Amino acid sequence: MMPAYNLPPEFRALATLPERPRLLVVDDQPINIQTLYQIFHADHEVFMATGGEQALAFCRDNPPPDLILLDVVMPGMDGIEVCRRIKAAPTLADIPVIFVTARSEPADETGALEAGGVDFIAKPVNPAVVRARVKTHLTLKAQADLLRSLVFVDGLTGVANRRRFDEALQIEWRRCRRSGAPLTLLMIDIDHFKRYNDHYGHQTGDACLQKVAAAIKAGLKRVHDLVARYGGEEFVCLMPECDHPAGQNKAEELRAAVAALGIPHDDSPTANYVTLSIGIAVMHPDGESSPEALVAAADMALYEAKLGGRNRVFAASSA
Ligand code: GH3
Ligand code: MG
Ligand code: MG
Repeated sequence: MMPAYNLPPEFRALATLPERPRLLVVDDQPINIQTLYQIFHADHEVFMATGGEQALAFCRDNPPPDLILLDVVMPGMDGIEVCRRIKAAPTLADIPVIFVTARSEPADETGALEAGGVDFIAKPVNPAVVRARVKTHLTLKAQADLLRSLVFVDGLTGVANRRRFDEALQIEWRRCRRSGAPLTLLMIDIDHFKRYNDHYGHQTGDACLQKVAAAIKAGLKRVHDLVARYGGEEFVCLMPECDHPAGQNKAEELRAAVAALGIPHDDSPTANYVTLSIGIAVMHPDGESSPEALVAAADMALYEAKLGGRNRVFAASSA
C-alpha cells in the first residue's frame, strides 16, 4: 500500500486522517471508472457515479468524499455544473474536485478551473500522474483542515475556541436579526475551580475541564447550537432561535448533567462534587442592542448566580 498523503510525521500525529481516503469517481463511461478504480482501490475507498445527478445524490446522502474525480462531458448535467453545485453547497464546498477529461483546449481547462476545480487531468490518464496529483490535493486538503481546526478549536477540550465563538456570535446575531428569532447565550463557569486545582493538581484540573466540556457538548443537540471555551474554566453556549423558557430549561439540564457526573471536589464549599453556575441572557437582535450587550448581560447573570450561592442558573432580567 502506498501512503495516500505526503505529510511529515509530526503533522500526521496532529491530524485525524482517514486510513483510506474516500474518492468519488464520476464518469458516464464505465470503462473510465474501471481504469481509475484499478489505479486507486488498493489504498483508497473508491465510490462511483455514472452521471452528475447521481454524483450530487451521493454527496447528499453519504459522508462527503475526500476528493472527487469528475468527467466534464456527460449526458444530462455536465461536470462543470456538478462542480458549481458542489462549490455552492456549504458542507461540500471544501472537497477538492479534479477534472478528468479528453477535452483539453485551454478554454475547457480555464472553464473547469473557474467552476471551482483544483486541477485538470487529460484523458487517457497516466496512472502515475493521476496518483501523484490526487496525493497532492489530498495532502493540501488535510493541511487546510488541520489549520482550520488549530485556528478554531480549543486544544485542551476539543470544543470551539474563543475566536470561533466571537465569529459565530456576529453571524448568529445578524441571522436572528433578519429572521426576528431570539438568540440565547449561556455563560457557564465552574464553581471553586481554583480550589479544585490547588487540591487535586493542574493535570486533574485539565481532565475535569475536558469532562465538563464533553458533558456540555453532549447536552446541546441542535446543529446551530455552539459550545465554546470562553476562558480558563468558563464556557459559553450560543443558541439561535431559542427563547427564554427553552434557554432556562437547557441551562438547568446542563447544570444537572455536570452535577450528575459526580466529579469529586472535596475542597468546594458548595458541594462535594464539581458544580456549575450559569448566567442566561436572551435577546431579540435589533438595531438598539448588540452582541456585546448580550455577552455583558449573560456575564452579569452569571455573577448573580455566583452571588446567589453557586450551583445554580440565573436569567438576566432583560430576558
Ligand atoms: P468561582 O466559584 O467564583 O468561579 O471560583 P473559581 O475558583 O472557579 O474562579 P477563579 O476565576 O478565581 O479561578 C479560576 C481557576 O481556573 C484559576 C485557574 O487556575 C483555573 N484554570 C484556568 N484555566 C485552566 C486550565 O486550562 N487548566 C486548569 N487545570 N486550570 C485552569
Ligand atoms: Mg471564572
Ligand atoms: Mg469559576
